[in-house]
Amino acid sequence: MNRREFIAASAAALTLPTVGLSVEARNIFRERGYYLCFMRMPTFGLDGWREILDGAAADGANTIILWAGGAFRSKKFPITWQWAKDHENVKADFGRELIAHAHRRGIKVLLGFTPFGYDGVNQYPLEHPELKATGKDGKPVNEFGIGCWGWNLCPAKTESQRFMREYAREMTFEFYPEADGLFIESSDYAICHCAECGPKFFDHEFAFVRAISDEVWVWKPDATVVVYPHYFSGAKLRFSFTEATASKQPFDPRWTLIFTPHSAALEPALIAKARGAWWWNEAPCRFDVANIRAGVKKARDAKCSGYVPSLECYSYVPVKTEFGEPWLVGKRQIPFGFGWLKDGANPHRELPVRAIRLAYRELTANPDLPDAELRTELGRELFGADWQPAQVDDLFELFRVFNTDRDWSVPGALTTPGLVRNRSERGKLDPKKRAQLREQLDRVRAIAARHRDATSDGGKELHRIAQWLADQWTPENAALLNAP
Ligand SMILES: [Zn+2]
Repeated sequence: MNRREFIAASAAALTLPTVGLSVEARNIFRERGYYLCFMRMPTFGLDGWREILDGAAADGANTIILWAGGAFRSKKFPITWQWAKDHENVKADFGRELIAHAHRRGIKVLLGFTPFGYDGVNQYPLEHPELKATGKDGKPVNEFGIGCWGWNLCPAKTESQRFMREYAREMTFEFYPEADGLFIESSDYAICHCAECGPKFFDHEFAFVRAISDEVWVWKPDATVVVYPHYFSGAKLRFSFTEATASKQPFDPRWTLIFTPHSAALEPALIAKARGAWWWNEAPCRFDVANIRAGVKKARDAKCSGYVPSLECYSYVPVKTEFGEPWLVGKRQIPFGFGWLKDGANPHRELPVRAIRLAYRELTANPDLPDAELRTELGRELFGADWQPAQVDDLFELFRVFNTDRDWSVPGALTTPGLVRNRSERGKLDPKKRAQLREQLDRVRAIAARHRDATSDGGKELHRIAQWLADQWTPENAALLNAP
């Protein structure tokens, strides 16, 4: 570098005040990290999890929501894990070692579960059917789940409260006492409509939340306890299956709040009182860079102290039709649709997730980073100093492919021709969809060809992944995409 270049480079560096600072110092949030579905990843053992945490630490994460309900070998309530006997943590309880590893990486771990519902908890009615919540029609609720199918409980019943307290206590104080707190995820799909619940549903749920929070703070006064705003605001809530009214309980400023796009709107008055407030969305696990940026901005503008979005993926075997896809029943879920990975191998290391993690790292440092600079950053880190804009374009094309027709337990269409065939057989593959997938297949074939002789690691990965996608579409499969 000559003197003129040196001065130019120094001047450029001055306009980029974040250069050279650690991820920690650059980040605009006090709490940052990911929401991860430990319970729905039965094939992942300690080694895979260690790698995932190492990656998160490299992204500047200091907080992980480890959704643990249903995925530990409860002694008091063995019914909660019968659905998950093949879960590595149920087989060889490694949660404590995992938390110790997180601490070595500067990451706090919050144990996630849902009061009166979802994984683990929703199995209790198998032994106590009388505790099932009541639906709008006055009858016991139907079975529901993602991976773990069961029934949410009526929180007005004494036995439901006792069960929740003891289950949460056992997880927190006996199994994972080194955890840094709790993530109490209020159910986002249903409430109980019995005579005692209805408009008072969240008062009953709150009784548990208040009690377990107090116990946790006696045990560890500095513990983080994350709760939903439903207990405090009196707001109208709209969930997937129902509507509900939030209650108006007194707010304890030791709580950290979490807000989501689908079940908990931001509430500035509450945020101002809370120890912390987090925004969540699903952008990272949907490979959606624009919405990572939008999420960061939303969190910043609402004065949230954290942005802890979902990077969840699943590896369980569905026992029922989920999200309208019967073909997936009995077939192991494939994390992010990355069908080339061995069971339990870390998917966060694969190019698309690595890129999303980089986007998270950069945008939580600077949500106003222009797109062109973000692309430069991605290009340089993933494809090396000689990166080409076309490589980043191809990367974004893979994002679109992996997210097409995605749902929580439904992989991107192009990753799974069998699923597309089944949709076709059920009359659910219209000409427009065929054309879209045909176009995607053409593009991934072109990407595979374009990077055949790649020399950078990122370029080789582009080739490998695009080639894998192309290879799924044998002539017989590809014929599915022809116009009928
Ligand atoms: Zn009830």
